[in-house]
Amino acid sequence: MLLKMLLGFLCGVLALAAENDTAQQDPPPLLLVSFDGFRADYLQRFPMPNLKLLYSQGVLVEQLTNVFITKTFPNHYSLVTGLYAESHGILGICISNMYDPVSHKYFHVNNDTDPMWWSEAQPLWLTALDHGYKTAAVMWPGSDVTIRNRTATHFFPYNPAVTFRQRLGNITDWIQGNGTEQGVKFAALYWEEPDRSGHIFGPDNNTAMGEALKEVDDNIGLLVSELKRTGLWGRVNVLITSDHGMAQCSAERLIRLDDCLPSENYTLVDLSPVTALIPHKDPEATVALLNKCHKHLTAYLKKRIPDRLHYRNNERVQPVILIADEGWTIVQRGNKLPRLGDHGYDNSLPSMHPFMAATGPSFRQGYRLSSLHSVDLYPLMCHLLSVTAQPNNGTLTKARCLLTAEKCWDVSLMVGLVIGVLLVLTTLTVLFRFMSSRHRPGPRPFQRLQVDDDDDDDPLLE
Ligand SMILES: [Zn+2]
Repeated sequence: MLLKMLLGFLCGVLALAAENDTAQQDPPPLLLVSFDGFRADYLQRFPMPNLKLLYSQGVLVEQLTNVFITKTFPNHYSLVTGLYAESHGILGICISNMYDPVSHKYFHVNNDTDPMWWSEAQPLWLTALDHGYKTAAVMWPGSDVTIRNRTATHFFPYNPAVTFRQRLGNITDWIQGNGTEQGVKFAALYWEEPDRSGHIFGPDNNTAMGEALKEVDDNIGLLVSELKRTGLWGRVNVLITSDHGMAQCSAERLIRLDDCLPSENYTLVDLSPVTALIPHKDPEATVALLNKCHKHLTAYLKKRIPDRLHYRNNERVQPVILIADEGWTIVQRGNKLPRLGDHGYDNSLPSMHPFMAATGPSFRQGYRLSSLHSVDLYPLMCHLLSVTAQPNNGTLTKARCLLTAEKCWDVSLMVGLVIGVLLVLTTLTVLFRFMSSRHRPGPRPFQRLQVDDDDDDDPLLE
């Protein structure tokens, strides 16, 4: 028995060593692609044949719980840092603003390349540089900013006129490298759709969104065919995801700030669906007033923003925030609905969730997970690249299940199995007791005690 235990221990150590050896080998390049505003349930609502073929050969995470606020910039920065918005400091943006009370600077989407905004965290394209890799980031939010004095090896200034084909063509060239130049090991690629169409037409418009998603799927088809043409298919890990979903808005669902609070009583920093403001009078009284104003609006003092939103511990979070219910739009005044679709709402809402699909030599085939946190993708990508992760809010525990080389315990399956075994054992025990009680002879009927008159063993008679 002792010998068996010793052999088992040795086998375990050898297996672990072999696993570490594999992890230390030169990892495959990783291509991260984001299609902005790809709501998770578009996968059920629209055909998407190229995307479905891709994840049938790889993995699908049906819903990603993203970070609050469910806007483009915070979530793209969370994907490449593994941090909540309060930790990386990019707290708004996608038709919205930020204000920094220390530097007194305003951030706007057309003026976003001041490194000050981005340098509270280090994106993966820089961390991978520290490991001697070349990296690329094309149009990804923050990629054209000199963060902590560096950029990716290859990047472009943001220009929405550059086509998907052009963005992709540069990336496949960079991954391949050339005779003298080492290829890129990590590349991030951003595309503006279906977010743009979702804002204009609203996610419930099946015709318009069907066309937008057909284009997105065609781009995925192009991505696969280009990887095949260049011989990279099967040698590159490809991870396709998004930043957030989209909710249908309506002119029937407007919340007018002017009905709640005189405009001279506050400075507006950001508007909808999460309003950030600096009150000019008592903040407590302002919040009390706002909370009585509209049943589809919740106002918070900064210190009372719920922990689960991870949106409090940063100087750039304003003293008061207001969160609209799903599909409601906050305006200052008037009846004009600015957008038919919007995002930014509570990150617990399924309509705000994106998805994740991946394929490549490191991923399992035909495997599905129902959900994952978007901050978990950062440790997963660091693991795929054998790069030491920066401190982050994610975990590899569940994401590990997506990988071929990893042992994975499906917790829900294990709990189900244990409960099942316990139920069977309990049933068997009860059944056994019941059966044995039925076969046990019952108490014998009363018998008169027979006294043997001749019993001379009675010592008293002796
Ligand atoms: Zn957007």
